[in-house]
Amino acid sequence: MRIKYHVPEIVIFGAFLSACALIEPEPVTRTFASMGTRTSVTLPGRDADRIAEAEARTREVLGRLEAEMSVYRPDSAVSRLNRLAGSGPTEVPADTLRVLELSREYGRLTGGAFDVTVGPLVRLWRFGKDRPPSIPSDKALAEQRALVDYSKIRLEGRTAFLPQAGMSVDLGGIAKGYAVDQAWLECRGLGLRSFLIDLGGNIRVSGTPGNSTSWNVQIRNPFDTSSTLGTLNLEPGWAVASSGQYERYVVIEGRRYGHIIDPRTGYPAAGLAAVTVVAAEAAIADALSTSLFVLGPRAGAVVLKTTKAEAVFIPDKEPAELWVTPGIEKRLVVAGRGAVRRLPGW
Ligand code: AMP
Ligand code: MG
Repeated sequence: MRIKYHVPEIVIFGAFLSACALIEPEPVTRTFASMGTRTSVTLPGRDADRIAEAEARTREVLGRLEAEMSVYRPDSAVSRLNRLAGSGPTEVPADTLRVLELSREYGRLTGGAFDVTVGPLVRLWRFGKDRPPSIPSDKALAEQRALVDYSKIRLEGRTAFLPQAGMSVDLGGIAKGYAVDQAWLECRGLGLRSFLIDLGGNIRVSGTPGNSTSWNVQIRNPFDTSSTLGTLNLEPGWAVASSGQYERYVVIEGRRYGHIIDPRTGYPAAGLAAVTVVAAEAAIADALSTSLFVLGPRAGAVVLKTTKAEAVFIPDKEPAELWVTPGIEKRLVVAGRGAVRRLPGW
C-alpha cells in the first residue's frame, strides 16, 4: 500500500522539477581568446543582462595577469626575472610573487614533479619551427637539467631572483589556474553569485546554474577529443583542471612527446593520456594536474592523500580507463564505455 502512495509522489516531484527547468532560461556564454587559449564566461539565464559586465571584468583580469606572467612577452615580469638570472633580483608584481610562492609550495608537495624552473627543458624540447623535431642529446639534457630546481628560486620582500645564469621560470602549469581564481574573485566582487569561468580547461564555478542542479563539466576523451568520457558535477565554488598529451606535442620518429616535462629525467612525461583534478581552487587544480601527469597514478595517489583534491587518471592505453580517487565517484557520471577503477593504493 505504501509503495502505491510513494510512486505517484516521485512522479509528481519529477514533473515539478522539469517544469522548473522549463521556466529557467538557458545559461548564456561569452567566448573570447585570452592567455593564448579559448576562454569563456557563463551565467545562468536569469542573469543574462550581466554577461557583458562579467566578460569585461574577466578579460581585464586575465589580460593584466598575462602581461605579468607570460614568457612569450619580453616585457613581462617573468621575462625580466629570467633575463636577470644569475645577475640580480628584480621587483615583481604581487600576483606574480604569489604564483611563485604557490609554485614552490607545490614543488615541495610533489617532491619536485611540479617545477616551474623547467623553462630550459621546455625550450630544449621546443620543437623549433625552423628545424625538424629531434630528441635532444644526453649532454644537452644533462646541461639543461642542471638548471632546473624550484627550491633555488629566491623570494625576498617584493623581489624574486634566479641565482644561476641560464635558469628560467615557465608558469604555464599554474598561471591559468591562478588567473581563473582572480577572475572568479572579481566576478564575486560584482555581486554575481552563480557563474562558470573556463580558461582553456581551467574551470571554476560559483553557485549553481539554475534550480538545485550543479554545474557540470565534461571530461574529454584524450583518444578522440571530439568525444567525452564522463561528466563531473562540481560543488559550488570548486574548480577543475585537466592536463593531457593531446594538448601540445611533437612527433619524433612516430612517437608522441608531450609538453609536460618530467624534471627528474628531462624527458616529456609518459604513461598517461590525461589527468583531471577537482580542487577547491583553480590554481591548485592546475598545479596538481600538471604534476600528477608527471607522477602517474601510484606516486600521484600518495600526494593526493595529503590534499583535499580528487583526481581522474586516464592511462595512455586504449580502451580508455578512468582511475579515480574514491571521493570523486559521487560526482562522476561516466559516458559510454570508459571503465572506472579505484586508484591503486586506495
Ligand atoms: P598544464 O597544461 O597546466 O599541464 O601545463 C603544461 C605547461 O606547464 C607546459 O606547457 C610548460 O609550460 C609547463 N610545464 C611543463 N612541465 C612542467 C613541470 N614538470 N612542472 C611545472 N610546469 C611544467
Ligand atoms: Mg597545470
